[in-house]
Amino acid sequence: MAKILDGKVFAKNLRDELKGIVSILREEYGNVPGLAVVLVGDNPASEVYVRNKGIQTKECGMRSYEHKLASTVQQDDLLKVIKQLNDDPEVDGILVQLPLPNHIDSQKVLDSIDPEKDVDGFHIINAGRLATGGDALVPCTPLGCLLLLKDHFDELTGKNVVVIGRSNIVGKPMAALLLRESCTVTIAHSKSNNLEEICQRADILIAAVGKPEMITKDFIKKGAVVLDVGINRIAAPEKGPGKMKLVGDVAFHEAKNRVEAITPVPGGIGPMTIAVLLRNTIQAACNRRAWKCDL
Ligand code: NDP
Repeated sequence: MAKILDGKVFAKNLRDELKGIVSILREEYGNVPGLAVVLVGDNPASEVYVRNKGIQTKECGMRSYEHKLASTVQQDDLLKVIKQLNDDPEVDGILVQLPLPNHIDSQKVLDSIDPEKDVDGFHIINAGRLATGGDALVPCTPLGCLLLLKDHFDELTGKNVVVIGRSNIVGKPMAALLLRESCTVTIAHSKSNNLEEICQRADILIAAVGKPEMITKDFIKKGAVVLDVGINRIAAPEKGPGKMKLVGDVAFHEAKNRVEAITPVPGGIGPMTIAVLLRNTIQAACNRRAWKCDL
């Protein structure tokens, strides 16, 4: 029977642990970390994410700030808001909710964030530090994947890992993190030849593609551990006309009979992301303020 790696439970335990750390920081230093989230426009999915981030930040005992700007905001005005947050000593983490409207250069905005407050880990300085093995704030989703893997395996050294996807927010940082753990890492993408064969060599297979149930059992080595990062909304006629459901990049029902362990969608990697964001905020605060904490 495959082990189901339950991201909801793991994230809840992580949040409880972080709450304990924040309460120690309050006692020791008389202050707690603060996270500022900037939302541009009224994309309903982004509004839900931002609301959840705010709720979980406060539940963890930290300070939460929200800056909502109209979808018509000019890039310079958005950059001014980020500068204010960079200059505010009470703000330890800054997150700009993506996607931004088309008239705004997202990379320019992300690179305007103080790298020491870049809790999403998307700043080029943090990407460079991660790639060169330095101390970096690391993108939340791949770090969540690593925490799950470290919880499952006694040792990652020497494992053959295949990461499908080479985006800057998931695939590349995922590969860099696993290289740091001395795994043998292959990154596959849409131009890879013989993807099925490449994947069959993986002890650990990580799918971050965005293609519903593309990874069937034929891609998976018997006894592999599979992390499914994909979140895809597809029609669910079995639930009734017009109904939708979420599925991952992996065909879960057939894959689960082949694997040692696997994350479900929903309830796998997804819930880890906000918990890791809170962890990154604490890390950023401790780095900036020279606080000692046990992360
Ligand atoms: P991107 O679209 O930026 O990247 C997708 C990657 O998959 C690309 O590198 C692309 O290759 C590769 N790819 C596409 N088609 C194929 C194919 N047929 N075979 C092999 N590789 C392919 O997506 P993201 O990395 O941002 O996200 C990936 C998935 O993860 C999405 O479903 C997203 O919703 C989900 N996600 C979930 C998060 C969470 O759980 N919290 C957070 C972030 C993302 P190429 O580079 O050649 O185009």
